[in-house]
Amino acid sequence: MSAGFEALFDRLARSASADYVGEAVSQLEHALQCAELSRRAGGDDVEILAALFHDLGHLEAPPDAARMAGLGVLDHETRGAALLAEAGAPAVLCALVAGHVAAKRYLVATRPRYAASLSAASQGTLAFQGGPMSPGDCAAFDADPLRDAILRLRRFDEGAKDPDARPPGLDAHRDRARRVFGLR
Ligand code: FE
Repeated sequence: MSAGFEALFDRLARSASADYVGEAVSQLEHALQCAELSRRAGGDDVEILAALFHDLGHLEAPPDAARMAGLGVLDHETRGAALLAEAGAPAVLCALVAGHVAAKRYLVATRPRYAASLSAASQGTLAFQGGPMSPGDCAAFDADPLRDAILRLRRFDEGAKDPDARPPGLDAHRDRARRVFGLR
């Protein structure tokens, strides 16, 4: 039986040659590094898979998708979450993926030194993504029960751009995906 998530794994596997907009690693390397950072930090299965799939929306954009001046697909977080939901991912996983850009906007608004720590590409996309959050949106973000997990994912995302990292490959995540997508 071919599970919904298998197509997502295939898509990630094919991203080994896909540029990760403006960064020194491929999309696949970025995804695997992000998942490994989550695993090492004690992330549960859902958090680790959210890290693995957080940029899926960059890979599965239709040709007419709005783009951010050579820095990827606008609203990739929403698109990725929708693709995951279609494939049968639990709502929490989708919400983590959907929130990872808002986390950047929140951190830029609330931590003065955070913006300077972003990569050039990530700073470049910020304006397209709405810039720093308003105080009201920050308060709403603080009230989100997934707030801390979303902020963790954001930290792993930013750390997962190391050209020398050698994280485990996709196969290390298949059993986890079977569990999370409810296949056993
Ligand atoms: Fe990312």
